Amino acid sequence: MFNSILIEKDDQGYRASLKEVDESVLPEGDVTVATLFSTLNYKDGLAITGKSPVVRSFPMVPGIDLVGTVEQTDSDKFNVGDVVLLNGFGVGEVHCGGLAQKARLKSEWLIKLPENFTPKQAMSIGTAGYTAMLCVLALQKHGVTPASGPVLVTGANGGVGSFAVSILAKLGYEVVASTGRLSEEAYLKALGASHVIDRATLSEPGRPLGKEQWAGAVDTVGSHTLANVCAGIKYGGTVAACGLAQGFDFSSTVMPFILRGVTLAGIDSVMRPLADREEAWARLGELVDQQALDKISTTIGLAGAIALADDLLAGKVRGRIVVDVNQ
Ligand code: NDP
Repeated sequence: MFNSILIEKDDQGYRASLKEVDESVLPEGDVTVATLFSTLNYKDGLAITGKSPVVRSFPMVPGIDLVGTVEQTDSDKFNVGDVVLLNGFGVGEVHCGGLAQKARLKSEWLIKLPENFTPKQAMSIGTAGYTAMLCVLALQKHGVTPASGPVLVTGANGGVGSFAVSILAKLGYEVVASTGRLSEEAYLKALGASHVIDRATLSEPGRPLGKEQWAGAVDTVGSHTLANVCAGIKYGGTVAACGLAQGFDFSSTVMPFILRGVTLAGIDSVMRPLADREEAWARLGELVDQQALDKISTTIGLAGAIALADDLLAGKVRGRIVVDVNQ
């Protein structure tokens, strides 16, 4: 028996609770992992509260990422005792995930714990940090350099936003952080933001083209914010769009794209090929230090994850939440 958050949906409705379960809840897979740490992401908040239909099979263990020790394996890729890392691949949505003391997974989804990180450090970064890194790599690939001008990060106090600010600053970019929590200006500046702006300046429907302000942007918010961000990008700049914290709608015009050559680079972390994952984690190993992790992450236990899910969706949680599943 092991402890798990279990999401059930039946005649009694949709609910998430902390339960003791046995291995029969786990799906098929060629690697069984004793989970060490998972995290609480925006998507896990949606799964736990049921506010959006991200869970598509019941009962489900939420948790889109985890680090754990291989307990049993039929795969040649790993040995018992290896410490492995998982992000995405529908885990926590259609295949039981990380918010339990045990998981059964497919070996093709797993990578070895990246060098430079302890299990807990890797989960302090988690899907949020890995997605932020994919966004920054996209900006670099499209030619946005520190000399190009300031880079905007929206939803800056969130998990993806906090890492995007920290990584961009470490790479020498001038970072503008957009947030609804101006009271967190000191935190954002400690992460490396040069300027902090009120997200209200971006959240309402705006003009097709605005002043050219930013050479690039990492947008975690979507909706009108993403449209306004595109309208404010300098000639030839790039927006890496990964999130929908304001909404999944996107009402823009073609003007930024056809008159200023702006690139809108979509970022998906879930189905990303293994080679891209390994590149992103290797770059994280070079760029993220313990000091940044201490500033960004807080650790809780399994029960705490259920209690915090509503606050996370309400944008009241700062940075990253690591879940010690054995706590
Ligand atoms: P968090 O909840 O940690 O952060 C989201 C942040 O967005 C909040 O902290 C808040 O920042 C801001 N925000 C919240 N509500 C609103 C609103 N109504 N209008 C404008 N801003 C708002 O989430 P994550 O960092 O984990 O994820 C961020 C987004 O990225 C989510 O939409 C998530 O689904 C998506 N995502 C996508 C991935 C992919 O593969 N494409 C992978 C990981 C995440 P502040 O207080 O600073 O304004």
